[in-house]
Amino acid sequence: MKQTPKIIEVNHPLVAASLSILRAKTTMPDLFRSHLQEISVLLFSEAARGWGTNAIKVETPLASCAGAVLAKPIVLVPILRAGLGMLDGIQRIAPDAAIGHIGLYRDAETLLPVSYYEKVPVNVTAAEVLLLDPMLATGNTACEAASILKAQGARSIQFLCVVACPAGVQQFHREHPDVPIITAAIDPELNDHGYIVPGLGDAGDRYFGTG
Ligand code: URA
Repeated sequence: MKQTPKIIEVNHPLVAASLSILRAKTTMPDLFRSHLQEISVLLFSEAARGWGTNAIKVETPLASCAGAVLAKPIVLVPILRAGLGMLDGIQRIAPDAAIGHIGLYRDAETLLPVSYYEKVPVNVTAAEVLLLDPMLATGNTACEAASILKAQGARSIQFLCVVACPAGVQQFHREHPDVPIITAAIDPELNDHGYIVPGLGDAGDRYFGTG
């Protein structure tokens, strides 16, 4: 069955406020780091909205009542390097999540992404898998990473990013119509150097202070 590609642009005052701090060129790496983590938690919360739960019984100090546990394990997969910046905050509220890593570089001649590192948890097939990268620019890297996850058996994937642009969204939807995109913003364009405009600059450099 043909699937309708899905993108959610999260409309929330906390997301808008954090994104503005991330965008500002005067924001220093320590504040950038804390807000990238904060906004990632908010995006994660949106991604988890439709997840199934199993009913459990909980004993409070006063009585027993109905409770819930997540039905599936969580796997978080940051795309190296900038995706690492989205991990810490999410891990704080999903401490049991298993972490995979995907490293890709761009071949100088073909300009296509080439994998140099892949380590995906063994339970990926049964898990809710979240692919993490702050910027969805051309879409090449995200597409390749999603293909790697599928080849390793992932069946329920969502892609979390902070800023997307139409070219990247179109490419990702073309190749992975079954993978919803959750983003804080969709910016209008990509410049000649592959940066999203207005965007927030190089997310990895700003997070790691290497710019
Ligand atoms: N990667 C980034 O870090 N920023 C962009 O604008 C595009 C790709």
